Amino acid sequence: MTIASNIETILEAMAATARSCGRDPASIRLLAVSKRHPCSSIEEAMKAGQCLFGESYIQEAATKCLDMDPSVSFHFIGHIQSNKAKQAAQLFTMVESLDRYKLAKALNKHLKALGRTLDVLIQVNIGHDPNKSGIAPEEAPELLKQISALSQIRPLGLMTIPPRSQDRTETRLHFKNLRLLGQDLAHQDLFYDNANLELSMGMSSDFTMAIEEGATIIRIGTAIFGDRP
Ligand SMILES: *Cc1c(COP(=O)(O)O)cnc(C)c1O
Repeated sequence: MTIASNIETILEAMAATARSCGRDPASIRLLAVSKRHPCSSIEEAMKAGQCLFGESYIQEAATKCLDMDPSVSFHFIGHIQSNKAKQAAQLFTMVESLDRYKLAKALNKHLKALGRTLDVLIQVNIGHDPNKSGIAPEEAPELLKQISALSQIRPLGLMTIPPRSQDRTETRLHFKNLRLLGQDLAHQDLFYDNANLELSMGMSSDFTMAIEEGATIIRIGTAIFGDRP
């Protein structure tokens, strides 16, 4: 299968799922996770019309031609050490994996110097999985309150990677819980745009379920680009 046909297949499944649960397909974005894949694969996806990509490693992203085309944008979805905040502030239109105030402060400082603002999502460890990063759900309000004082950072919603499970009912419950948490925080006016909550959840094996539970961004790597080299 080619990258172009993989993207087409996923876009069709996204649209069909959205329609089946009464959602507008245009309200869901496909993030093509291009980590550990070469620029040539990104270009192939661009030719198929894909313009949103995800990277997980700052050092790798810095070597890629992220400025190849102004219509293309990149989200960061991995762990950021605070000493890489400057590069993150330069390279990405959104950081989906913000999980601590110290990092937010470091990003804000560099964004100010660059004259940029940055959209962020708070990464939440929705299943309290000891192997996953992200803050505990109950810590999200406090972090958002702290971030609200930072002029260059716009928190738009939440991101999660649920615990690995064979039980789809359990995975669905984690997606639902992320949505309920996001809606609760939006009711408390803790996001930049509380009427347009972003929820990044769902990957290759479970994105249709995530869409049914309210995902606005799904993150797909392998099902588009194949196995990572
Ligand atoms: C790698 C990665 C993905 C994509 O995973 P696939 O299984 O390749 O679809 C999605 N989200 C995050 C946070 C990732 O690190």
